[in-house]
Amino acid sequence: MSKSRDVAAMPAYADVVIVGAGFAGLSAADRLSSLGHSVLVLEGRDRVGGRSFTGEVAGVKVDLGATWVSKRHSAIRNLAERMGCTTTPQFSQGRNVLWLAKRRHTYNGTIPKLSPATLVNMGRIQLALDKLASTINPDAPWASPRAAEFDAISFEEWLDRKRARATTRAMMTIVSKVEWGCQPSDVSLLHVLRTIRAFGGFDHMLDNEGGMQDERYRETTQEIAVRLAASLGDRVVTDAPVRRIEQDDTGVTVFTDTAQVEATYAIVTTATEHRLGIDFEPALPEVAQGLARSWGLGKLSKAFVAYDRPFWRTNGLSGEAVTDTGAVFITYDVSPDPAGPGILMAFCDPRVFDTHPPEVRREMVVRQLTDLYGPHAANPIDYIDHCWNLEPFAPGGPNPVVAPHAALRYGPALTEPHGRIHWAGTETAGEWTGSMNGAVLTGLRAAERIAARLRVDHGVLA
Ligand SMILES: Cc1cc2nc3c(=O)[nH]c(=O)nc-3n(C[C@H](O)[C@H](O)[C@H](O)COP(=O)(O)OP(=O)(O)OC[C@H]3O[C@@H](n4cnc5c(N)ncnc54)[C@H](O)[C@@H]3O)c2cc1C
Repeated sequence: MSKSRDVAAMPAYADVVIVGAGFAGLSAADRLSSLGHSVLVLEGRDRVGGRSFTGEVAGVKVDLGATWVSKRHSAIRNLAERMGCTTTPQFSQGRNVLWLAKRRHTYNGTIPKLSPATLVNMGRIQLALDKLASTINPDAPWASPRAAEFDAISFEEWLDRKRARATTRAMMTIVSKVEWGCQPSDVSLLHVLRTIRAFGGFDHMLDNEGGMQDERYRETTQEIAVRLAASLGDRVVTDAPVRRIEQDDTGVTVFTDTAQVEATYAIVTTATEHRLGIDFEPALPEVAQGLARSWGLGKLSKAFVAYDRPFWRTNGLSGEAVTDTGAVFITYDVSPDPAGPGILMAFCDPRVFDTHPPEVRREMVVRQLTDLYGPHAANPIDYIDHCWNLEPFAPGGPNPVVAPHAALRYGPALTEPHGRIHWAGTETAGEWTGSMNGAVLTGLRAAERIAARLRVDHGVLA
């Protein structure tokens, strides 16, 4: 990774200070720099990339956080292309495994082999979700026609009302765990519908080919951020958690533990709940404080298990499994090459995973993979996992868990500037919120809005 500037050597002034060096922050800095403005990105961790983070298993680089891009994610794809990063399709040839109610099934395609009554029930629920989601404005879901009604109940209450059968419920729980990092009882129906709409509909949200899980990056997604940060050079400072932002009529002062910098504007790109880690003077309005308190990130962990080769492929399996039992609830094949090593990526439920020591976590995952893929899975050559829940600057997953009533009450504060402070970050996106693409779009949006204000300040008509 390129060397970023030392906190002690920070400049005294930048036109815009940006908090956070994830895709939102780096994209904002990139755009503002290209428009001729001076920027400084302050990142609390010792690395850039935020929820994109590279790990290594059996000598292969893997995505501990964000992995996939859809063909429709043009903002992150354009950025990645500029940074010289290339995609590879998500492997999905062969039969998938479904472990439900202690029984193992295998099936082709996205629809598992279940009883016709269950399939009809599942189809009806999915259709209803898509229909309701189509009424939601992803930029302002709280202003959608039936917003109050949808925000008054949880996803689970809605599944009850729709008479979802046990299997449909089990599948929707798995969807809830991977998309919102929580149980269906914890999340507002309005927020669920917003995500489905923002992710291009239920099928696009869950599909591999032609959907959100279409492709991944050979170089890893963090590498895109690392290269972008390198192009910004010493305008990116790591190990610089921002603790306080003061503002008056003329500008802002941003404080880290050991330094302070003056700026005309600031962009805060932290996940909504991490706005609480910054002391604002003047204080945020009550609704903005409520947003930060109530839009906590969902919880999601990931494990990667490496084998000498992708042995499941020889058995006609895709490496994709869905299970309702144990810590692992979904797996994917992320092997770099058919010759090996074979790598299975497993999404794990932090509630029954993170509290265990590493060796127990490994044992839990390997045991479950053995149930899913047979005895060969009991002999991995390497293992790595990452518990996002345990990190100081990102305790969570891709999306916030917005409880009933909190979407309508606090959502409008997502993007409302606080004087000279603008907000970005994937949570503030409309379309593609919760994805890297959403993050890039919000960084660009905040940059354009601030550039327009700077033009007005300098007497140039916007
Ligand atoms: C397990 C997991 C899997 C995911 N899978 C996918 C996927 O397959 N595809 C996809 O598109 N997306 C995926 N995502 C979501 C994706 O990672 C995010 O949408 C995106 O990376 C968010 O970027 P961001 O810049 O908005 O926020 P972040 O990446 O969270 O960046 C915010 C930055 O702010 C920093 N920060 C916080 N507080 C402070 C402070 N006080 N001072 C200074 N810095 C601070 C943080 O350290 C962080 O670096 C996944 C996320 C997770 C966790």
